Amino acid sequence: MEILFIFVLLYKNKTMQIQETKSTNQTTFKWNSVTHIGMTLKAVSNSTIEPHERKVLAKFVLMPDFLASEQGYHNNTHFFFPYGKTKSFGREGDAENNALERYKEHLQMALTVYDKPKFLKHAGFAIHYLQDVSMPMHTEPGGLLQKIMKYKIHKDFEIGKKYGATPALKDLLAGYAPENIEYSSLIDLFVRTAEFSQRPEFKIKSSNKSDWFNIQQQCFNRGVDATREFFNKLLRVAQF
Ligand SMILES: [Zn+2]
Repeated sequence: MEILFIFVLLYKNKTMQIQETKSTNQTTFKWNSVTHIGMTLKAVSNSTIEPHERKVLAKFVLMPDFLASEQGYHNNTHFFFPYGKTKSFGREGDAENNALERYKEHLQMALTVYDKPKFLKHAGFAIHYLQDVSMPMHTEPGGLLQKIMKYKIHKDFEIGKKYGATPALKDLLAGYAPENIEYSSLIDLFVRTAEFSQRPEFKIKSSNKSDWFNIQQQCFNRGVDATREFFNKLLRVAQF
């Protein structure tokens, strides 16, 4: 129901020019919409922005999964491999299409715009990529072929209820405990978050489904903590 509501909300807002991902012929990978919203609202729950602005921000956090301009080559813009030879999969030499580059671009925009709606938009887009790299399958090196081969397990991990391994948002929120993160800059925060999700104990396999709940919880927690750090820091230097 909640997902349906979000879709209606997104599609109703014509000014946002939402375009549906061509999901029938494209590999789509995402922490699901509920996860992105839950992480964001939790992360900004003590922020100085108004409650209605928090919802606007959360809506912008979802958008990169639906806008054609943010998809790249088979969604490679939503991946970043901290330990890979290349930083995402995709066409050779296409160094721009990875989550860090998209994050940097929106971070730069958020820092230079003078009005709050635009700030929320670019901050929200940047947060999307930051949250994506808290998910181990978005940071595990591999080419398009490997990504397609792992598509099912990726999807099962993010949205699969089939194995009883995907907790409901309320469980993730209940299991959340804030932690401090060490980082030297907002770029470093991003890279360290990607490195965090590549810890060996978070490797997602079809043979370790009993660990998935715990992996999801720890990655969810990291996503919330990174979002909180990012947004609070950004708000302090915003130009509006
Ligand atoms: Zn994404």
